[in-house]
Amino acid sequence: MSDTASTAGKIQEYLDDNKLQPTLQVIINDLCKQLPSDAFGYLVNQLLPKCAPPQIDKLVGREVLDSRANPTVEVDVYAIVRDKSRLIARSAAPSGASTGSNEAMELRDGDNDRYMGKGVKRAVDNVNTILSPAVARANPTDLAAVDDLLCKADGTELKTKVGGNAITAASFAVAEAGAILLDLPLYKHLANVFYRGRDTPKTYRLPTPMVNILNGGKHAGGNLKIQEFMIMPNADLPFTEKLRYVTQVYHHLGKLLVSKYGVSAKNLGDEGGYAPPLDNADEALGMIEQAISAAGFTAGKDIFLALDCASSEFYKDGKYEIAPKKFLTGDELLNYYEKLVNDHPALRSIEDAFDEKDYEMWKKSMERLGDKIMLVGDDVFTTNTNLLSRGINEKWANALLLKVNQIGTISEAMNAARMMFEASGQVIVSHRSGETTNSVISDLAVATGARFIKTGAPARGERVCKYNRLLQIEEELINEGLLEK
Ligand code: PEP
Ligand code: MG
Repeated sequence: MSDTASTAGKIQEYLDDNKLQPTLQVIINDLCKQLPSDAFGYLVNQLLPKCAPPQIDKLVGREVLDSRANPTVEVDVYAIVRDKSRLIARSAAPSGASTGSNEAMELRDGDNDRYMGKGVKRAVDNVNTILSPAVARANPTDLAAVDDLLCKADGTELKTKVGGNAITAASFAVAEAGAILLDLPLYKHLANVFYRGRDTPKTYRLPTPMVNILNGGKHAGGNLKIQEFMIMPNADLPFTEKLRYVTQVYHHLGKLLVSKYGVSAKNLGDEGGYAPPLDNADEALGMIEQAISAAGFTAGKDIFLALDCASSEFYKDGKYEIAPKKFLTGDELLNYYEKLVNDHPALRSIEDAFDEKDYEMWKKSMERLGDKIMLVGDDVFTTNTNLLSRGINEKWANALLLKVNQIGTISEAMNAARMMFEASGQVIVSHRSGETTNSVISDLAVATGARFIKTGAPARGERVCKYNRLLQIEEELINEGLLEK
Protein backbone atom coordinates (compact mmCIF):
# COMPACT_ATOMS: atom_id res chain seq x y z
CA MET A 1 0.00 0.00 0.00
CA SER A 2 1.29 3.54 -0.85
CA ASP A 3 2.13 5.96 2.00
CA THR A 4 -0.81 8.22 1.21
CA ALA A 5 -3.24 5.27 1.04
CA SER A 6 -2.08 4.07 4.43
CA THR A 7 -2.47 7.59 5.90
CA ALA A 8 -5.98 7.81 4.41
CA GLY A 9 -6.75 4.41 6.01
CA LYS A 10 -5.59 5.67 9.40
CA ILE A 11 -7.75 8.80 9.11
CA GLN A 12 -10.80 6.71 8.22
CA GLU A 13 -10.17 4.40 11.14
CA TYR A 14 -9.93 7.42 13.50
CA LEU A 15 -13.15 8.92 12.13
CA ASP A 16 -15.00 5.59 12.49
CA ASP A 17 -13.68 4.89 16.02
CA ASN A 18 -14.72 8.34 17.20
CA LYS A 19 -17.98 8.48 15.18
CA LEU A 20 -16.83 11.70 13.51
CA GLN A 21 -17.75 10.86 9.92
CA PRO A 22 -21.28 12.48 9.98
CA THR A 23 -19.97 15.71 11.58
CA LEU A 24 -17.15 15.93 9.04
CA GLN A 25 -19.61 15.42 6.19
CA VAL A 26 -21.73 18.36 7.37
CA ILE A 27 -18.66 20.60 7.69
CA ILE A 28 -17.34 19.71 4.22
CA ASN A 29 -20.76 20.12 2.59
CA ASP A 30 -21.21 23.55 4.24
CA LEU A 31 -17.76 24.63 3.17
CA CYS A 32 -18.37 23.57 -0.43
CA LYS A 33 -21.59 25.60 -0.45
CA GLN A 34 -19.93 28.71 1.06
CA LEU A 35 -16.69 28.57 -0.95
CA PRO A 36 -17.52 26.52 -4.04
CA SER A 37 -14.39 27.64 -5.91
CA ASP A 38 -11.84 27.12 -3.14
CA ALA A 39 -13.21 24.98 -0.33
CA PHE A 40 -10.19 22.71 -0.22
CA GLY A 41 -7.67 25.56 -0.53
CA TYR A 42 -9.32 27.06 2.54
CA LEU A 43 -9.12 23.74 4.39
CA VAL A 44 -5.42 23.40 3.55
CA ASN A 45 -4.72 26.88 4.94
CA GLN A 46 -6.58 25.99 8.14
CA LEU A 47 -4.69 22.75 8.59
CA LEU A 48 -1.20 23.93 7.65
CA PRO A 49 -0.50 25.76 10.93
CA LYS A 50 -1.27 22.48 12.72
CA CYS A 51 1.80 20.92 11.04
CA ALA A 52 5.10 20.85 12.89
CA PRO A 53 6.44 24.44 13.06
CA PRO A 54 9.15 25.37 10.56
CA GLN A 55 12.74 25.05 11.71
CA ILE A 56 15.85 26.78 10.51
CA ASP A 57 17.94 24.25 8.65
CA LYS A 58 20.94 26.46 7.99
CA LEU A 59 22.18 29.96 7.26
CA VAL A 60 24.43 30.42 4.25
CA GLY A 61 26.58 33.55 4.05
CA ARG A 62 28.18 35.17 1.04
CA GLU A 63 30.17 38.27 0.19
CA VAL A 64 28.25 40.74 -2.00
CA LEU A 65 28.69 44.45 -2.74
CA ASP A 66 27.01 47.42 -1.12
CA SER A 67 26.10 50.74 -2.77
CA ARG A 68 29.63 52.12 -2.27
CA ALA A 69 31.33 49.17 -4.01
CA ASN A 70 32.42 47.74 -0.67
CA PRO A 71 31.84 44.11 0.24
CA THR A 72 29.08 43.29 2.71
CA VAL A 73 27.58 40.14 4.18
CA GLU A 74 24.48 38.55 2.67
CA VAL A 75 22.71 35.68 4.43
CA ASP A 76 20.34 33.04 3.02
CA VAL A 77 17.91 31.36 5.41
CA TYR A 78 17.00 27.74 4.68
CA ALA A 79 14.14 26.32 6.70
CA ILE A 80 12.66 22.86 7.01
CA VAL A 81 9.02 23.15 6.09
CA ARG A 82 6.99 19.96 5.99
CA ASP A 83 10.13 17.82 6.04
CA LYS A 84 11.88 19.62 3.22
CA SER A 85 14.69 22.14 3.46
CA ARG A 86 14.18 25.17 1.23
CA LEU A 87 15.59 28.63 0.72
CA ILE A 88 13.03 30.99 2.27
CA ALA A 89 14.65 34.46 2.27
CA ARG A 90 17.90 36.37 2.07
CA SER A 91 19.09 39.79 3.16
CA ALA A 92 22.29 41.80 3.60
CA ALA A 93 23.85 44.26 6.06
CA PRO A 94 24.32 47.99 5.39
CA SER A 95 27.48 49.86 6.36
CA GLY A 96 28.21 53.35 7.74
CA ALA A 97 30.99 55.84 6.98
CA SER A 98 30.58 58.32 9.86
CA THR A 99 30.43 55.63 12.50
CA GLY A 100 30.17 56.02 16.27
CA SER A 101 32.98 54.49 18.34
CA ASN A 102 30.45 52.41 20.31
CA GLU A 103 28.92 50.72 17.28
CA ALA A 104 28.83 46.96 16.86
CA MET A 105 32.04 45.96 15.14
CA GLU A 106 31.99 45.50 11.40
CA LEU A 107 34.29 42.55 10.80
CA ARG A 108 36.53 43.20 7.78
CA ASP A 109 39.35 40.95 6.60
CA GLY A 110 42.09 43.59 6.52
CA ASP A 111 43.70 41.81 3.55
CA ASN A 112 44.86 44.71 1.38
CA ASP A 113 45.08 42.48 -1.71
CA ARG A 114 41.30 42.08 -1.68
CA TYR A 115 38.93 45.07 -1.82
CA MET A 116 41.52 47.32 -0.12
CA GLY A 117 41.22 45.32 3.10
CA LYS A 118 37.43 45.60 3.20
CA GLY A 119 36.58 42.00 2.30
CA VAL A 120 34.15 40.20 4.61
CA LYS A 121 35.20 36.57 4.07
CA ARG A 122 35.80 36.05 7.79
CA ALA A 123 32.35 37.39 8.66
CA VAL A 124 30.85 35.12 6.00
CA ASP A 125 32.74 32.17 7.49
CA ASN A 126 31.34 33.06 10.89
CA VAL A 127 27.81 32.94 9.44
CA ASN A 128 28.43 29.45 8.13
CA THR A 129 30.37 27.97 11.01
CA ILE A 130 29.13 29.83 14.13
CA LEU A 131 25.74 31.46 13.50
CA SER A 132 24.24 28.71 11.36
CA PRO A 133 24.71 25.89 13.91
CA ALA A 134 23.67 28.27 16.72
CA VAL A 135 20.22 28.86 15.20
CA ALA A 136 19.67 25.47 13.56
CA ARG A 137 16.32 23.93 14.63
CA ALA A 138 15.03 27.29 15.96
CA ASN A 139 11.67 28.48 14.68
CA PRO A 140 12.37 31.29 12.15
CA THR A 141 9.01 32.91 12.90
CA ASP A 142 10.18 33.62 16.46
CA LEU A 143 12.55 36.50 15.65
CA ALA A 144 13.17 37.47 19.27
CA ALA A 145 14.35 33.94 20.11
CA VAL A 146 16.54 33.69 17.01
CA ASP A 147 18.08 37.13 17.62
CA ASP A 148 18.85 36.01 21.15
CA LEU A 149 20.64 32.92 19.83
CA LEU A 150 22.61 35.11 17.40
CA CYS A 151 23.71 37.38 20.27
CA LYS A 152 24.63 34.42 22.49
CA ALA A 153 26.66 32.85 19.67
CA ASP A 154 28.76 36.02 19.70
CA GLY A 155 28.67 36.67 23.44
CA THR A 156 30.00 40.26 23.32
CA GLU A 157 28.01 43.50 23.50
CA LEU A 158 29.60 44.95 20.36
CA LYS A 159 29.67 41.68 18.40
CA THR A 160 33.45 41.57 18.23
CA LYS A 161 33.66 37.79 17.91
CA VAL A 162 31.36 37.05 14.99
CA GLY A 163 31.03 40.57 13.50
CA GLY A 164 28.05 42.94 13.64
CA ASN A 165 27.79 42.72 9.84
CA ALA A 166 27.28 38.91 10.03
CA ILE A 167 24.69 39.29 12.81
CA THR A 168 22.69 42.11 11.19
CA ALA A 169 22.50 40.29 7.87
CA ALA A 170 21.31 37.15 9.69
CA SER A 171 18.72 39.06 11.73
CA PHE A 172 17.35 40.84 8.63
CA ALA A 173 17.17 37.56 6.69
CA VAL A 174 15.44 35.67 9.51
CA ALA A 175 12.90 38.51 9.86
CA GLU A 176 12.10 38.22 6.14
CA ALA A 177 11.90 34.42 6.39
CA GLY A 178 9.53 34.62 9.38
CA ALA A 179 7.17 36.95 7.53
CA ILE A 180 7.12 34.70 4.46
CA LEU A 181 6.45 31.57 6.52
CA LEU A 182 3.66 33.30 8.46
CA ASP A 183 2.26 34.64 5.19
CA LEU A 184 2.35 38.16 6.64
CA PRO A 185 3.76 41.37 5.20
CA LEU A 186 7.05 42.11 6.97
CA TYR A 187 5.71 45.19 8.81
CA LYS A 188 2.89 43.14 10.37
CA HIS A 189 5.30 40.40 11.42
CA LEU A 190 7.70 42.98 12.90
CA ALA A 191 4.83 44.77 14.67
CA ASN A 192 3.94 41.49 16.40
CA VAL A 193 7.60 41.14 17.41
CA PHE A 194 7.75 44.76 18.60
CA TYR A 195 4.58 44.45 20.68
CA ARG A 196 5.64 40.94 21.77
CA GLY A 197 2.41 39.46 20.46
CA ARG A 198 0.36 41.59 22.91
CA ASP A 199 -1.72 44.64 22.05
CA THR A 200 -0.31 45.03 18.55
CA PRO A 201 -2.16 48.14 17.31
CA LYS A 202 -5.01 47.54 14.91
CA THR A 203 -3.92 50.39 12.65
CA TYR A 204 -0.57 51.56 11.34
CA ARG A 205 0.95 54.91 10.42
CA LEU A 206 3.53 55.77 7.78
CA PRO A 207 6.65 57.67 8.89
CA THR A 208 7.53 61.14 7.62
CA PRO A 209 10.66 60.92 5.47
CA MET A 210 13.68 63.06 6.34
CA VAL A 211 15.13 63.32 2.87
CA ASN A 212 18.83 64.07 2.44
CA ILE A 213 18.95 66.22 -0.70
CA LEU A 214 22.31 67.89 -0.22
CA ASN A 215 25.33 65.87 0.94
CA GLY A 216 28.47 67.07 2.71
CA GLY A 217 30.98 65.72 5.22
CA LYS A 218 32.24 62.18 4.68
CA HIS A 219 29.46 61.45 2.17
CA ALA A 220 30.67 64.00 -0.39
CA GLY A 221 33.97 65.45 -1.55
CA GLY A 222 33.67 69.19 -0.83
CA ASN A 223 34.28 71.72 1.94
CA LEU A 224 30.87 71.45 3.53
CA LYS A 225 31.47 70.01 7.00
CA ILE A 226 27.83 69.31 7.84
CA GLN A 227 27.02 65.89 6.45
CA GLU A 228 23.30 66.01 5.62
CA PHE A 229 20.86 68.73 4.61
CA MET A 230 17.42 67.19 4.74
CA ILE A 231 13.87 68.23 3.98
CA MET A 232 10.77 66.91 5.73
CA PRO A 233 7.29 67.28 4.25
CA ASN A 234 4.36 68.35 6.39
CA ALA A 235 3.54 65.41 8.66
CA ASP A 236 -0.21 65.63 7.93
CA LEU A 237 0.10 64.70 4.26
CA PRO A 238 -0.46 61.17 2.97
CA PHE A 239 2.85 59.40 2.33
CA THR A 240 2.36 59.45 -1.45
CA GLU A 241 2.10 63.23 -1.34
CA LYS A 242 5.02 63.56 1.05
CA LEU A 243 7.19 61.72 -1.43
CA ARG A 244 5.97 63.83 -4.35
CA TYR A 245 6.60 67.10 -2.49
CA VAL A 246 10.19 66.27 -1.51
CA THR A 247 11.01 64.80 -4.90
CA GLN A 248 9.83 67.95 -6.68
CA VAL A 249 11.99 70.06 -4.37
CA TYR A 250 14.92 67.72 -5.10
CA HIS A 251 14.56 68.31 -8.86
CA HIS A 252 14.28 72.08 -8.42
CA LEU A 253 17.35 72.10 -6.20
CA GLY A 254 19.29 70.28 -8.94
CA LYS A 255 18.25 72.90 -11.49
CA LEU A 256 19.18 75.80 -9.21
CA LEU A 257 22.56 74.32 -8.37
CA VAL A 258 23.38 73.83 -12.06
CA SER A 259 22.37 77.40 -12.91
CA LYS A 260 24.49 78.81 -10.07
CA TYR A 261 27.55 76.53 -9.96
CA GLY A 262 27.61 74.64 -13.29
CA VAL A 263 26.67 71.10 -14.26
CA SER A 264 29.08 69.33 -11.90
CA ALA A 265 27.14 70.78 -8.93
CA LYS A 266 24.50 68.17 -9.72
CA ASN A 267 26.87 65.28 -8.98
CA LEU A 268 25.55 63.04 -6.28
CA GLY A 269 27.00 62.10 -2.90
CA ASP A 270 26.81 58.71 -1.20
CA GLU A 271 23.15 59.02 -0.24
CA GLY A 272 21.91 60.38 -3.56
CA GLY A 273 21.81 64.05 -2.52
CA TYR A 274 23.61 66.68 -4.56
CA ALA A 275 27.22 67.44 -3.61
CA PRO A 276 27.75 71.04 -4.79
CA PRO A 277 30.84 73.18 -4.08
CA LEU A 278 29.30 75.08 -1.15
CA ASP A 279 31.28 76.30 1.85
CA ASN A 280 28.78 76.75 4.64
CA ALA A 281 25.47 75.61 6.04
CA ASP A 282 23.80 78.99 5.74
CA GLU A 283 24.37 78.99 1.97
CA ALA A 284 23.18 75.36 1.66
CA LEU A 285 19.98 76.05 3.64
CA GLY A 286 19.40 79.20 1.55
CA MET A 287 19.63 77.19 -1.69
CA ILE A 288 17.19 74.62 -0.35
CA GLU A 289 14.73 77.36 0.70
CA GLN A 290 14.93 78.75 -2.85
CA ALA A 291 14.27 75.28 -4.26
CA ILE A 292 11.24 74.88 -1.98
CA SER A 293 9.79 78.16 -3.34
CA ALA A 294 10.69 77.28 -6.94
CA ALA A 295 8.75 74.02 -6.50
CA GLY A 296 5.72 76.07 -5.42
CA PHE A 297 5.86 75.17 -1.72
CA THR A 298 6.31 77.22 1.44
CA ALA A 299 9.22 76.49 3.79
CA GLY A 300 7.92 76.13 7.33
CA LYS A 301 4.44 75.11 6.15
CA ASP A 302 4.71 72.45 3.43
CA ILE A 303 8.36 71.56 3.89
CA PHE A 304 10.71 71.73 6.90
CA LEU A 305 14.48 71.54 7.16
CA ALA A 306 16.77 69.20 9.10
CA LEU A 307 20.52 68.73 9.53
CA ASP A 308 22.77 65.84 10.41
CA CYS A 309 26.03 67.51 11.43
CA ALA A 310 27.86 64.23 12.17
CA SER A 311 30.08 66.53 14.19
CA SER A 312 32.33 63.82 15.66
CA GLU A 313 33.89 63.83 12.19
CA PHE A 314 35.08 67.46 12.53
CA TYR A 315 35.83 67.50 16.26
CA LYS A 316 39.46 67.47 17.35
CA ASP A 317 41.26 68.54 20.53
CA GLY A 318 38.16 70.18 21.99
CA LYS A 319 37.35 72.25 18.88
CA TYR A 320 34.93 71.90 15.99
CA GLU A 321 36.25 72.71 12.50
CA ILE A 322 32.92 73.98 11.14
CA ALA A 323 34.56 75.21 7.91
CA PRO A 324 38.09 74.62 6.58
CA LYS A 325 40.47 76.13 9.21
CA LYS A 326 37.58 77.72 11.12
CA PHE A 327 37.59 76.23 14.62
CA LEU A 328 34.81 76.78 17.18
CA THR A 329 34.49 75.83 20.84
CA GLY A 330 31.40 73.85 21.84
CA ASP A 331 29.68 77.01 23.13
CA GLU A 332 30.49 78.90 19.92
CA LEU A 333 29.11 76.01 17.90
CA LEU A 334 25.90 76.08 19.93
CA ASN A 335 25.59 79.82 19.22
CA TYR A 336 26.13 79.03 15.54
CA TYR A 337 23.32 76.42 15.56
CA GLU A 338 21.02 78.81 17.43
CA LYS A 339 21.62 81.45 14.77
CA LEU A 340 20.84 78.90 12.03
CA VAL A 341 17.57 78.04 13.80
CA ASN A 342 16.67 81.74 14.08
CA ASP A 343 17.68 82.62 10.51
CA HIS A 344 15.97 79.55 9.01
CA PRO A 345 12.72 79.15 10.95
CA ALA A 346 11.81 76.03 8.95
CA LEU A 347 14.79 74.22 10.55
CA ARG A 348 13.24 71.72 12.97
CA SER A 349 15.82 69.03 13.62
CA ILE A 350 19.57 68.78 14.24
CA GLU A 351 21.29 65.41 14.53
CA ASP A 352 24.69 64.83 16.14
CA ALA A 353 25.18 68.54 16.79
CA PHE A 354 28.10 67.69 19.08
CA ASP A 355 30.80 65.07 19.36
CA GLU A 356 29.64 61.66 20.57
CA LYS A 357 31.33 62.17 23.97
CA ASP A 358 30.85 65.94 24.45
CA TYR A 359 27.95 65.25 26.83
CA GLU A 360 28.06 68.68 28.50
CA MET A 361 27.34 70.35 25.15
CA TRP A 362 24.55 67.88 24.42
CA LYS A 363 22.91 68.88 27.71
CA LYS A 364 23.38 72.60 27.02
CA SER A 365 21.87 72.24 23.56
CA MET A 366 18.82 70.55 25.08
CA GLU A 367 18.41 73.44 27.53
CA ARG A 368 18.69 76.03 24.77
CA LEU A 369 16.98 74.34 21.81
CA GLY A 370 15.24 71.24 23.16
CA ASP A 371 11.81 72.92 23.32
CA LYS A 372 12.03 74.24 19.78
CA ILE A 373 13.49 71.46 17.66
CA MET A 374 14.37 67.77 17.60
CA LEU A 375 17.90 67.11 18.86
CA VAL A 376 18.71 63.71 17.45
CA GLY A 377 21.28 61.31 18.88
CA ASP A 378 23.05 59.05 16.40
CA ASP A 379 26.73 58.45 17.25
CA VAL A 380 26.04 59.53 20.84
CA PHE A 381 23.59 56.62 21.37
CA THR A 382 24.57 54.06 18.68
CA THR A 383 21.14 52.41 19.23
CA ASN A 384 22.59 51.03 22.47
CA THR A 385 20.22 50.89 25.46
CA ASN A 386 23.08 51.39 27.97
CA LEU A 387 24.01 54.73 26.39
CA LEU A 388 20.39 55.62 25.72
CA SER A 389 19.27 55.14 29.32
CA ARG A 390 22.14 57.38 30.45
CA GLY A 391 21.24 59.94 27.79
CA ILE A 392 17.58 59.93 28.78
CA ASN A 393 18.43 60.44 32.49
CA GLU A 394 20.90 63.20 31.73
CA LYS A 395 18.76 64.80 28.99
CA TRP A 396 21.25 64.64 26.12
CA ALA A 397 18.69 64.59 23.30
CA ASN A 398 14.98 64.25 22.58
CA ALA A 399 15.17 61.87 19.62
CA LEU A 400 16.94 58.61 18.80
CA LEU A 401 18.36 57.71 15.41
CA LEU A 402 17.80 53.98 15.18
CA LYS A 403 20.24 51.96 13.05
CA VAL A 404 20.00 48.20 13.45
CA ASN A 405 23.61 47.52 12.49
CA GLN A 406 24.91 49.88 15.18
CA ILE A 407 23.83 47.31 17.76
CA GLY A 408 23.42 44.05 15.80
CA THR A 409 19.95 42.54 15.74
CA ILE A 410 16.47 43.89 15.02
CA SER A 411 15.33 42.82 18.51
CA GLU A 412 18.07 44.84 20.22
CA ALA A 413 17.23 47.88 18.08
CA MET A 414 13.57 47.42 19.08
CA ASN A 415 14.60 47.55 22.76
CA ALA A 416 16.15 50.97 22.10
CA ALA A 417 12.99 52.17 20.32
CA ARG A 418 10.78 51.01 23.23
CA MET A 419 13.04 52.79 25.70
CA MET A 420 12.91 56.06 23.73
CA PHE A 421 9.12 55.87 23.32
CA GLU A 422 8.71 55.26 27.06
CA ALA A 423 10.71 58.46 27.65
CA SER A 424 8.33 60.29 25.25
CA GLY A 425 11.14 60.86 22.74
CA GLN A 426 10.99 60.52 18.98
CA VAL A 427 12.46 57.63 16.98
CA ILE A 428 13.88 58.01 13.49
CA VAL A 429 14.54 54.69 11.77
CA SER A 430 17.62 55.11 9.59
CA HIS A 431 19.54 53.61 6.69
CA ARG A 432 23.35 53.74 6.46
CA SER A 433 25.37 55.62 3.87
CA GLY A 434 26.47 52.27 2.41
CA GLU A 435 23.25 50.43 1.61
CA THR A 436 21.78 47.42 -0.16
CA THR A 437 18.52 47.05 -2.02
CA ASN A 438 16.59 45.50 0.84
CA SER A 439 13.88 47.63 2.41
CA VAL A 440 13.65 46.08 5.90
CA ILE A 441 13.92 49.51 7.53
CA SER A 442 10.72 50.72 5.83
CA ASP A 443 8.79 47.83 7.36
CA LEU A 444 10.56 48.36 10.67
CA ALA A 445 9.54 52.03 10.77
CA VAL A 446 5.88 51.14 10.17
CA ALA A 447 6.01 48.24 12.65
CA THR A 448 7.37 50.35 15.50
CA GLY A 449 5.19 53.38 14.77
CA ALA A 450 8.31 55.59 14.42
CA ARG A 451 7.25 59.05 13.27
CA PHE A 452 10.27 59.47 10.99
CA ILE A 453 12.45 57.56 8.58
CA LYS A 454 15.79 58.73 7.20
CA THR A 455 16.79 56.98 4.02
CA GLY A 456 18.61 59.42 1.75
CA ALA A 457 17.57 61.24 -1.40
CA PRO A 458 14.72 60.10 -3.66
CA ALA A 459 17.42 58.92 -6.07
CA ARG A 460 19.62 55.82 -6.43
CA GLY A 461 18.12 52.35 -6.26
CA GLU A 462 19.23 51.47 -2.74
CA ARG A 463 17.49 54.63 -1.38
CA VAL A 464 14.44 54.63 -3.65
CA CYS A 465 13.57 51.01 -2.83
CA LYS A 466 12.87 52.09 0.76
CA TYR A 467 10.53 54.89 -0.36
CA ASN A 468 8.84 52.64 -2.89
CA ARG A 469 8.27 50.02 -0.21
CA LEU A 470 6.47 52.66 1.89
CA LEU A 471 4.25 53.46 -1.13
CA GLN A 472 3.33 49.77 -1.34
CA ILE A 473 2.62 49.60 2.39
CA GLU A 474 0.46 52.72 2.27
CA GLU A 475 -1.60 51.30 -0.61
CA GLU A 476 -2.06 47.99 1.24
CA LEU A 477 -3.08 49.72 4.48
CA ILE A 478 -5.62 51.88 2.66
CA ASN A 479 -7.08 48.86 0.87
CA GLU A 480 -7.40 46.99 4.16
CA GLY A 481 -8.73 50.01 6.09
CA LEU A 482 -5.74 49.78 8.44
CA LEU A 483 -4.16 53.20 7.92
CA GLU A 484 -4.32 55.32 11.07
CA LYS A 485 -6.69 58.21 10.55
C1 PEP B 1 24.27 59.09 9.58
O1 PEP B 1 25.29 59.58 10.08
O2 PEP B 1 23.17 59.33 10.07
C2 PEP B 1 24.37 58.21 8.40
C3 PEP B 1 23.32 57.66 7.83
O3 PEP B 1 25.63 58.04 7.90
P1 PEP B 1 26.53 56.75 8.16
O4 PEP B 1 25.76 55.56 7.72
O5 PEP B 1 27.74 57.02 7.30
O6 PEP B 1 26.84 56.72 9.61
MG1 MG C 1 24.02 60.65 11.65
